[in-house]
Amino acid sequence: MKNKQENKIEAAIQALISGNKKFLDAKKSGYSHQTIKTVPAKNGQNPYAVVVTCSDSRVPPEHIFAAGIGELFVIRTAGNVIGDFELGSIEYAVGHLGTPVVLVLGHNHCGAVAAAMEGHGTGNIKKVLDEIMPVISGEKDVDKCENLNIEHSFYRISESEMVRDLIRKGEVKLISGKYDIETGGVEFF
Ligand SMILES: [Zn+2]
Repeated sequence: MKNKQENKIEAAIQALISGNKKFLDAKKSGYSHQTIKTVPAKNGQNPYAVVVTCSDSRVPPEHIFAAGIGELFVIRTAGNVIGDFELGSIEYAVGHLGTPVVLVLGHNHCGAVAAAMEGHGTGNIKKVLDEIMPVISGEKDVDKCENLNIEHSFYRISESEMVRDLIRKGEVKLISGKYDIETGGVEFF
């Protein structure tokens, strides 16, 4: 018999899977993404998932998962790299809002990973690449490098004591996946 929290986690993962299916079927079903929608503010926010993904303009989580306003807590950086501000944002969602699922979503044709493979960047871009480069070192296959980078962000999030503790208690589940910008599909790992 599953407890309440396990059901909440499962429902959130199902919402991500079925949301992506809805997005993929949009042409056939006539579904269109409605972003102009207000939500009552008095009860605060109650997102069902945290999505950590790349800033790439072709990877908008609310579209990909056919989600409305108030449903996803989104953190985006180039190459979905994780630093202190990102970790703090994730901790806020899981610790204070009670969001049960954290998804690390990488994608194919990721410019940040490609730049890290080439190994050069200027200004603060270098800081992003510095986070990715050691993880993909020696690997020449783009697809594998992208996957290694997703794995690394996953690892960085699990380094948070608060997140780790909530995972151990069964309150939170950390998952990962990869978005295909050509097909619109998400592969969950
Ligand atoms: Zn990217």
